[in-house]
Amino acid sequence: MAKHFQAVRGMNDILPAEAAQWQRLEATVRDVLAAYDYQEIRLPLVEKTELFARAIGEVTDIVEKEMYTFADRNGDNLTLRPEGTAGCVRACLEHGLLHHQTRRLWYAGPMFRYEKPQKGRYRQFHQVGAEAYGMAGPDIDAELICLSARLWRRLGLNEVSLQLNTLGSSAARAAYRERLVGYFTARQSGLDEDSRRRLQTNPLRILDSKNPTMQALIAEAPALLDHLDPESLAHFEELKALLDAAGIVYQINPRLVRGLDYYRQTVFEWVTDTLGAQGAICAGGRYDGLIEELGGPATGGIGFAMGLERLVAMLTAAGRPGADSAPHAYLITVGEVAQQIGLVLAERWRDEWPELRLRLNCGGGSFKAQFRRADHSGARFALILGEDEAKTATIAIKPLREAQGEQVTLPQEQATAWLRTAALDKKS
Ligand code: ATP
Ligand code: MG
Repeated sequence: MAKHFQAVRGMNDILPAEAAQWQRLEATVRDVLAAYDYQEIRLPLVEKTELFARAIGEVTDIVEKEMYTFADRNGDNLTLRPEGTAGCVRACLEHGLLHHQTRRLWYAGPMFRYEKPQKGRYRQFHQVGAEAYGMAGPDIDAELICLSARLWRRLGLNEVSLQLNTLGSSAARAAYRERLVGYFTARQSGLDEDSRRRLQTNPLRILDSKNPTMQALIAEAPALLDHLDPESLAHFEELKALLDAAGIVYQINPRLVRGLDYYRQTVFEWVTDTLGAQGAICAGGRYDGLIEELGGPATGGIGFAMGLERLVAMLTAAGRPGADSAPHAYLITVGEVAQQIGLVLAERWRDEWPELRLRLNCGGGSFKAQFRRADHSGARFALILGEDEAKTATIAIKPLREAQGEQVTLPQEQATAWLRTAALDKKS
């Protein structure tokens, strides 16, 4: 037998058994975003490479080594999106969405990064991101954090904590950067290869290193918080007061950085201990410089992105049920006449009750075989259409799960009303 194909490394199938968990997560995310009046924007998976180089920064991990970049047949240099913010800002500028107005937007979908695949880290993964434009904060910063906190509550995820930091104004950062370079330059022998390279290009990012042998050195490094400008300090104090008022618990983490030049003021990350090494489930911050950098007006932006694979893993580990996707009923037809009537009946019932999830037996089979399939389908009821039922325009309904009562026979036109009542009973 020929060897079958395998998916590309780090790019996963989401199989039907897992899809229910994804659906529940996505539905909850949509509800919570709607509760804050965020509007969905749908963006292409592919953008010009230059957009990401400019938006994310030439000297970031993503642009240096993680992008899927290719020339199309026309020779244009394109990249599979590694994140959503760049494309979102690009679309807003292209369509004039930021013209003298504020925007609250969200997007969802696959992102692509050439990383070393491991638990919680993949080459194709999914994010939901939220972005708010035209507001200087810190009120919108606080609201966006409240939104994410509400989402964890709605999902029943308790083992998450919020890390908060501020990166200050770009001037304060530039001064701090000098200090940091001085500190690490004096201790170069303690740096790993990546960090030595970053010392020249992106020294703040050294603070983000996960290398255990460097943690002591990083802990002793000067903290940006101690070198902030008064305006940034005021922004941060006000944000903390708003979060306190809203009952949001946070930890200040002076080493929380986003290594990009356009980030300033607020940065935050939601983390969990329950997922092992890849514990960040949601990361965000203000990026007031980006919109200008991409040719737009000088207007504020803040956003976050969360990793859906990691959230699904948490929900699954916590034993949360997925979306209810089992069929309400499975229609068994015995005999040729019943088979033909069955198809028509099933269509009529779906017209009558659009939410009905009905699986029609296809491919024939004895009553016994069909009954076995009905049971395997997970349906709550088997609808049985035999010769007798076909003649008398009735349908027999047999419960397939425990404690759902006796088999009944009803006129066919009463079937959907009966199933609907049974479905409602289950919910109450
Ligand atoms: P890390 O430091 O873990 O690489 P990052 O700073 O690259 O994270 P962001 O770009 O801020 O991550 O992405 C936001 C969220 O998207 C992360 O908190 C995480 O939940 C998720 N995420 C990022 N990269 C991956 C990946 N390769 N596979 C799965 N999820 C990811
Ligand atoms: Mg990364």
